[in-house]
Amino acid sequence: MAIAHCKRCGKIYNRVRRDICSACIVEEDRAFAAVRLYLHDHRDTTMEELVERTGTDESLIVSLIREGRLILRDNPNLTYACARCGRPTQVGRFCARCTQEMASAGRRKTEV
Ligand SMILES: [Zn+2]
Ligand SMILES: [Zn+2]
Repeated sequence: MAIAHCKRCGKIYNRVRRDICSACIVEEDRAFAAVRLYLHDHRDTTMEELVERTGTDESLIVSLIREGRLILRDNPNLTYACARCGRPTQVGRFCARCTQEMASAGRRKTEV
């Protein structure tokens, strides 16, 4: 078993699979459930509204989307900034345009 610092709260814990501790996993799962429910009930919500109404950090919501746990099929107004150009996007780390640009720029630079 590996000892690690929780990426979220900074506590030392026994790392199993995730890079956050068990307390944070519970916390995150609860936030995830609240966010998903809110998205389902309020399809036209924005990120600002979602953060405010669910009391969830935008960074957590964005990471859930980037990890593919949260899919924004029915929420056209919910966007966050592309990590490359800052334009609004709804999936992954980069917007569709950047993904395409990077793909056509070649595979020399591999995104970590
Ligand atoms: Zn933690
Ligand atoms: Zn972009």
